Amino acid sequence: MIYLDYQATTPLAPEARTAMLRWLDGPEGAGFGNPHSPHRMGRQAAAAVEVARERVAALLPPGGRVLFTGNACEAINLAMRGSDGVRKPGIAYSAIEHAAVRDTAMALGEAAEIPVDAEGLTDPAAALPENTGLVAVMAVNNEIGTVQAVAEWHARAKAAGALFLCDAVQACGKMAVPVADMIAVSAHKMHGPKGIGALWVRDGLELDPQITGGLQEGARSGTLSPALCAGFGAAAQRAAERMEEDAAHIEALWTRARDLFAGWALNGSAEARWHGNLNLRLEGLDVNRLMSECREVMFSAGSACASGSGRTSHVLKAIGLSDAQAKSSIRLGFGRYTTMDDLERGASAIVAGAKAQGL
Ligand code: PLP
Repeated sequence: MIYLDYQATTPLAPEARTAMLRWLDGPEGAGFGNPHSPHRMGRQAAAAVEVARERVAALLPPGGRVLFTGNACEAINLAMRGSDGVRKPGIAYSAIEHAAVRDTAMALGEAAEIPVDAEGLTDPAAALPENTGLVAVMAVNNEIGTVQAVAEWHARAKAAGALFLCDAVQACGKMAVPVADMIAVSAHKMHGPKGIGALWVRDGLELDPQITGGLQEGARSGTLSPALCAGFGAAAQRAAERMEEDAAHIEALWTRARDLFAGWALNGSAEARWHGNLNLRLEGLDVNRLMSECREVMFSAGSACASGSGRTSHVLKAIGLSDAQAKSSIRLGFGRYTTMDDLERGASAIVAGAKAQGL
């Protein structure tokens, strides 16, 4: 199998797996303690959680705290719903935000979309409605990989008297994440385990808990999993150590991929883009047929989060593609563990599949 779907999820780093094992002990071991228990096993587990917290925080700006959550959707919901009482009600979000932001904004009411241009980029000088209390612009888009001017958006939100939320799920561990009021991240997008994410909250900003219980994380209740935290922490540490090496590897894959898919149109900017994302379009392509013929290649017909819904991608629509163009688009994602051979074999199967359709 050839895995080319790094925006959907990433392979677990061996270092993350090793870090997790000790905390998955059964009755014979000392690693299953509750990190919120005051006894020795509990304190050991709590210490591992704190080491992990520091490792995740090292990828994020100074001046804030990291709250562990179950995933990034939960982190985004906590940020948006938990700040409801301390800001103006309006929420302005980019037209290409993940459903976690869009759906929550619409559920909270007074939602306004910030448009993107044909390249998939927002303009930080765009108009904001008068009542805007929260601006949400993601760092890197999950479908087309475009990189937004997040630092400018933060300044813009501040000038408007609004909080700024950055969904940095596809950026964290790959590039520096600029300061915001709240930043959402997810372990499984950066070679950590599934089932854990985090919300970074700027010092001085207090959020209303959305899940009550023990308030173990302050604004978030629930017993933490030391194994998931340790895996996330180890993945974060590895990402920090390898950031340049990973980026250079991905750049080489991108350059080769652009050659392999010469003749296919690229959706979204080529420059302001994370180059581990290749969202391509070939007029007339029947993507479902292609996917069923290329069963050995794992790639996506659009956003992994929306795939299967049958809906046309809101991101591809926002950059001006017609339904037919969006439906003839595929997304390939590659990264740290993708070899040149994987990419070449995957591309050759996809190109052959398209040729078999007469394209
Ligand atoms: N935001 C972006 C940009 C994503 O790509 C995803 C997952 O696809 C999420 C948020 C949600 O992340 P999680 O799977 O941790 O809930």
